[in-house]
Amino acid sequence: MTELAARCVHAGEMDDPQGSPHSPLYSSTTFKFPSTQAILDVVEGRTLAPLYTRYGLNPTILALEEKLAALENAEAAWAFCSGMAAEAALFVSHGRKGVICIGDAYGGTLELLKDQLPLLGIPGHFLLGHELDRLPQLLQQGAGLVFFETPTNPALEIFDIAAIAELAHRHGALVAVDNTFASPVNQQPLALGADFAVHSCTKYLGGHSDLTAGAIMASKELLAPIWGWRKNLGQMLAPETAALLARSIRTLPIRVQQQNANAQAVAEALSQHPRVSRVLYPGLDSFPGKALAARQMSGFGGMLSFEVAEGGVAASAVADRLRLFALAPSLGGVESLITQPCTTTHHGLSAEERARRGISDGMLRLSIGLEDPKDLIADLHQALAT
Ligand code: PLP
Repeated sequence: MTELAARCVHAGEMDDPQGSPHSPLYSSTTFKFPSTQAILDVVEGRTLAPLYTRYGLNPTILALEEKLAALENAEAAWAFCSGMAAEAALFVSHGRKGVICIGDAYGGTLELLKDQLPLLGIPGHFLLGHELDRLPQLLQQGAGLVFFETPTNPALEIFDIAAIAELAHRHGALVAVDNTFASPVNQQPLALGADFAVHSCTKYLGGHSDLTAGAIMASKELLAPIWGWRKNLGQMLAPETAALLARSIRTLPIRVQQQNANAQAVAEALSQHPRVSRVLYPGLDSFPGKALAARQMSGFGGMLSFEVAEGGVAASAVADRLRLFALAPSLGGVESLITQPCTTTHHGLSAEERARRGISDGMLRLSIGLEDPKDLIADLHQALAT
């Protein structure tokens, strides 16, 4: 097994007869067969071969999936048209006895678990970090799937993947970690005992804010029941997007390593600023989850949050004054972005609920890109100057 960087470049690349160094793009929706027997061999599962793109049986998508599996050292991976499509397929296929969602998950995930899945008879249970002592009780009641992000959005809370997996497995439940924030460069949930790694590939894996995709990495056995849902709910990504995503993954480690370094520099600079009351970044000594993060992550990531001491209005003004950072949701791209959670991702929650989750109105979340950190720090300083 090669190191991650080599896998990002080489895993899943086809041996192209024309000599292309990477897998060519097959945009075809269907594929020809030499005989009825050959088509039956694919339809009846004896051979894996290109057949129909919506099924994922397209050479460009199959090549991408080999690369996605290699990222998490998984036996296999399935690609989806978005991170939400991947999560929805996971919940409907493995969460029917109930999904326990730990911590502050992405807003769309919480909505799906709270508003849509109960209509299908799939119960969602929600535990914040300080309520983890209730996990054994919920597991005893029979919920079949534990799902969480680590680090979380936007407070960067860190959950112990190995400990949660051990507890869940003792109760016969499966564990899925949304590894979007960390990326496979910084964290390998399957190696720590999780059953599924889930990604919004729209973020670090795509890395350029120009594609929407999702993925689930797991064993072939656990992926098998998800296949029919993906096929018949029509959740496949376009081959053009698959080729673009594979292109981006080839540079994933070098991008993420630089984003880690840039974020560390920005976090340290913000910690020194008199108008900043708190910086949440797993690489800072002041961060409560630093020891656990250092144990289960190999890098601290490109995401950080900080609080402007004077509160929400002052924080909005800081965000509005930034020139290099774009005021936009999403994360993981080459360009640095800023959001104010109380006006975007967590706008739908009451002020009390935000407080319960440790999200103040003065909190700003940064997704650190590939600009020189000196320029990013200078931009933050000028925005904080008044
Ligand atoms: N998971 C996390 C952590 C996210 O931040 C997001 C989107 O922001 C999603 C999942 C959903 O991904 P997508 O927008 O690709 O559907």
